[in-house]
Amino acid sequence: MLADIEQIGRNPRTGGYRRDAWSSADMELREWFTHQAAKRGLTSHEDRNGNLWAWWGDPSVQGPGLVTGSHLDSVREGGAFDGPLGVASAFEAIDLLRGDGFQPDRPIAVACFTDEEGARFGVPCIGSRLLTGVLDPDRARSLRDEQGHSLDEVLTARGRQPGRLGRDDETLARVGVFVELHVEQGRALEAPVGVASAIWPHGRWRFDFRGTADHAGTTAFEDRDDPMLAYAHAVLAARTQAEAHGVRATFGKVRVEPNNANAIPSLVTAWLDARGPETEKVRALVTELAAGADVTEESWTPEVTFDEVLRTRVACVAGLDGHPAPILPTAAGHDAGILASAGVPTAMLFVRNPTGVSHAPGEFAEPRDCVSGVIALAAVLADLTGGGS
Ligand SMILES: [Zn+2]
Repeated sequence: MLADIEQIGRNPRTGGYRRDAWSSADMELREWFTHQAAKRGLTSHEDRNGNLWAWWGDPSVQGPGLVTGSHLDSVREGGAFDGPLGVASAFEAIDLLRGDGFQPDRPIAVACFTDEEGARFGVPCIGSRLLTGVLDPDRARSLRDEQGHSLDEVLTARGRQPGRLGRDDETLARVGVFVELHVEQGRALEAPVGVASAIWPHGRWRFDFRGTADHAGTTAFEDRDDPMLAYAHAVLAARTQAEAHGVRATFGKVRVEPNNANAIPSLVTAWLDARGPETEKVRALVTELAAGADVTEESWTPEVTFDEVLRTRVACVAGLDGHPAPILPTAAGHDAGILASAGVPTAMLFVRNPTGVSHAPGEFAEPRDCVSGVIALAAVLADLTGGGS
């Protein structure tokens, strides 16, 4: 299934993917999702926040169901597995259950959450945040991409109705349990399949360092107000302070104005991603770095601890050779975290990543581990929908 979509949004030079939300690549992937649903006789539909759902059974008649899935968008120059592995595995797990003649006692759905990475509009998990009401629809509509297009304009151009964005209780009420399968994004998982215990609290902050543009040659050092220096200090401080606090901090995106090689900049805008096991330490780091910059919090996701009873049960079912699957925390954000925070019983399965590389073209999972992931997911779906084959 991943081979079907391996060319979509791929940079042939680097092998990296660019699948921004609502780009033509994303539209193609959404179509692929709908096609996969139709091929299996699942009822697919797009909710008013742009998330896709493919139902086996009817949740409006049979009550809330078990939802599995992930996302299809990518970071810039991302890998092939982050997101699509969870969507493809969800369809495959349903195939496996049906092949066994399994009849679930409640509906099962495959979900694809829109704009999980936030690569285009800066806020991650836009689809699940809107669905659960943690992202204000007015704020969402006014988010702009680098070309200056607002989400409102982009959705309108794609024939959607941005006026309908916002918390969607009707859709949410259909989700009894959510299980997301995802490629592991570090090297912590040694077994083929693992289960998430928690997601570190994490956020993104925009730092605006302001100065005065001037000539790179004729302006004496004592006359300069160069924001690049403040930015450079912040980058180095982020690293040292993060190590001191036991958290992770990264400036991964920067924009310079006016961006001339022979001029002192007037403005350096940089984005800090910071996360760690303890909220206070992440917060303390951001406060320490804020000197000399105007700081705007663009997103914040509190720590998520997955339902303990559910994760223990999932680990038992997803284990191999009679051993429960290992349970581990993750430093990566996921739609599963947003749903868990909204009170939906939620679990996550991870598929081993041999190199730990993620959000980069080298992201990889062995095909046999992906198959183990599908088998584990199918076993979890069967266990949670209680029927027998
Ligand atoms: Zn992901």
